Amino acid sequence: MKILVINCGSSSFKYQLWDMQTHKVLCSGLVERIGDAVGRLIHKKNPDTEAERKTSEDGVFPDHTAGMMRVMALLTDPEAGALKELSEISACGHRVVQGGEEFTKSALITEEVLDNVRKLSPLAPLHNPACIQGIEVIMKILPDCPSVAVFDTEFHSSMPPRAYMYALPYEYYERNRIRRYGFHGTSHGYVAGKAAEFLGKAPEEVNVIVCHLGNGCSISAVRGGKCADTSMGLTPLAGVIMGTRCGDIDPAIPAYLGAQTGLSAARIDALLNRESGLKGICGLNDMRDIHAACAEGNAKAKLALDMFCYSIKKYIGAYYAVLGRVDALAFTAGIGENDNVTRATVCEGLEGLGIAVDTAANNVRSSDPRAISPKGAKVSVLVIPTNEELAIAQAAQRVLRELGKSL
Ligand code: ADP
Repeated sequence: MKILVINCGSSSFKYQLWDMQTHKVLCSGLVERIGDAVGRLIHKKNPDTEAERKTSEDGVFPDHTAGMMRVMALLTDPEAGALKELSEISACGHRVVQGGEEFTKSALITEEVLDNVRKLSPLAPLHNPACIQGIEVIMKILPDCPSVAVFDTEFHSSMPPRAYMYALPYEYYERNRIRRYGFHGTSHGYVAGKAAEFLGKAPEEVNVIVCHLGNGCSISAVRGGKCADTSMGLTPLAGVIMGTRCGDIDPAIPAYLGAQTGLSAARIDALLNRESGLKGICGLNDMRDIHAACAEGNAKAKLALDMFCYSIKKYIGAYYAVLGRVDALAFTAGIGENDNVTRATVCEGLEGLGIAVDTAANNVRSSDPRAISPKGAKVSVLVIPTNEELAIAQAAQRVLRELGKSL
């Protein structure tokens, strides 16, 4: 059984073709600069293996349909592809960023579902319209292939009201749907499940704090496999400090900034999303560049790293209190999986909570799930590589099975 996973942006999309028997990626790729004079397609067969075969081409992709048509041709190409016919694709799994309160689990896409996703666009104006476009294109090109929407927010739908409500006048929740939704849910759910598996326990038995640290960063408190709280909010701007996003700040700052500088609300929004975070402090947002700058004695880079780790530590403390008992602290995504310095700094001084890092284990580079805490530690500190695409493919498979669709 083969499932095509689509992650669509406004002028680009990524795709992966999964073999669900072997859990291997058969082909993957990226189409970018859709709508520009010259677009670019990078396609890989057997990615990240010794047999990898990479095709990259410049082309004109006036819209997503044109890009997707080219991908379909590559997927069935005798050299570059992995399919004889497109009908071998059993289903498509689409990443959809905002599912609102309407979608607490992945859903088979029907006209009604698509209409409801459209209605959620005001809550995610940059993301949901792009996701919808991807769904519409696939429905046009592969009309007989079932499509499943997998929402970034769905894992967080188990949060209780005390965690998701903001202390604003209640009518803004009712009328404007202002509440915490949380994001990166596919990753948090996948990593919490893998952490339980690593400990040899069922997800229901395990409490985990998951630190997803990539360009975007979010922390979640997972009790018995269900999300109890998460750091991102109405939008992915909230929570810990990120590459270019400020994370939690005094909510009075935007109005104060506007009054002081005359900047418009839209300009301030862009400033908080794209010019703040690590980049705002030291001008760099890639953690590897920040380490290089720290090594050269750059004081602002050191401050940015220090602030970043401190903001994560504070969430770990908060979520320890939320959960009461913590079995595992799991690091994932680009920084979480690769950066031993961040992991060690975040955990420094938490021995009183039973959280500690074994330096030798922490310094090992590997792409396998692993423990980096000392043997017998009260809390297992783990590094768990995330795999949002596999989680999306599995969710799509689950939805179709539940609906009794034979694949
Ligand atoms: P995205 O959120 O876009 O999926 P990733 O999960 O790929 O992002 O994470 C990107 C971040 O991971 C960047 O800050 C990058 O510097 C960091 N990163 C990647 N590899 C390393 C590494 N070896 N050491 C430290 N940081 C790394």
